[in-house]
Amino acid sequence: MTVSEYVPTRVAHDGGMRELVVLGTASQVPTRERNHNGYLLRWDGEGFLFDPGEGTQRQMTLAGVSATDVTRLCITHFHGDHCLGVPGVVQRLSLDQVDHAVRAHFPAAGGEFFARLRHASVFHDVAEVIAEPVTGDGVVATGPFGTLSASTLDHSVATYGYRLVEPDGRRMLPELLAAHGIAGPDVGRLIGAGSIEVGDRVVGVDEVSETRRGQRFAFVMDTRLCDAVYALADGADLLVIEATYLDVDADLAAANAHLTAGQAARVAAECGVRRLVLTHFSQRYDDLMAFAREAAAHFGGETVIARDLTRVPVPSRR
Ligand SMILES: [Zn+2]
Repeated sequence: MTVSEYVPTRVAHDGGMRELVVLGTASQVPTRERNHNGYLLRWDGEGFLFDPGEGTQRQMTLAGVSATDVTRLCITHFHGDHCLGVPGVVQRLSLDQVDHAVRAHFPAAGGEFFARLRHASVFHDVAEVIAEPVTGDGVVATGPFGTLSASTLDHSVATYGYRLVEPDGRRMLPELLAAHGIAGPDVGRLIGAGSIEVGDRVVGVDEVSETRRGQRFAFVMDTRLCDAVYALADGADLLVIEATYLDVDADLAAANAHLTAGQAARVAAECGVRRLVLTHFSQRYDDLMAFAREAAAHFGGETVIARDLTRVPVPSRR
């Protein structure tokens, strides 16, 4: 296994970038090193802001994320470390006169909390925030980004994990194109039409390409281990998952409906995850390398022990 640390950078993002910007990594109580939760997933032109805890607006500034970058809010549940940043973010959308709508997904059972956060204090409210509460497991939204779905997790209050799946595409194979004598603008025509005439025969796109699996991202926050954790994480290129505790405190994790680093790493291993991001650490731990060591015992892939203001690329397609 490898433990990676991605250093803070200010990368100009273009339409094709896919990366996680870690805004905060603390559960319950922020520390000197760790802000409350907050994660922006840049996914082409979209910016999914997951679980903005207290202080997220300022963390965005420090991370080089603008209010305009946010296109969706995805809230797993309404404990404060996952949502107290909503008022600041919403008011900033207004202040900056962000000219696109921001859709907000959250457990429908917490609708009253969202309503309060959305209108927490007086401001010149011009932001277009469209509440789209999640009422059950299944598809939450579809678009050019793919399919966003939600699954019920096992926490002390209504909680959903999220999963983003890009549709499968096709990868053209140059050697097969060459073998069929297809080159230049004909490649574009073949992709557009699905087939092309070459001499006296028709070549289908399937004959000169292979399936390119769409990328998958999963976001699993506060929960005990349950089937939904595995369903969300299945085959994820990038899995962001809470590891509030270490295995030594597994009884606390169970009592408080959380995961340990060991549990999270075993999920990643079983689900064939490519890059694992552990976060949502309890304030009781100072040495986060212990999380890396515990994860390494179970997961052979790349593990990132999340730090505030770092960026984690979605692993490149294969
Ligand atoms: Zn939490």
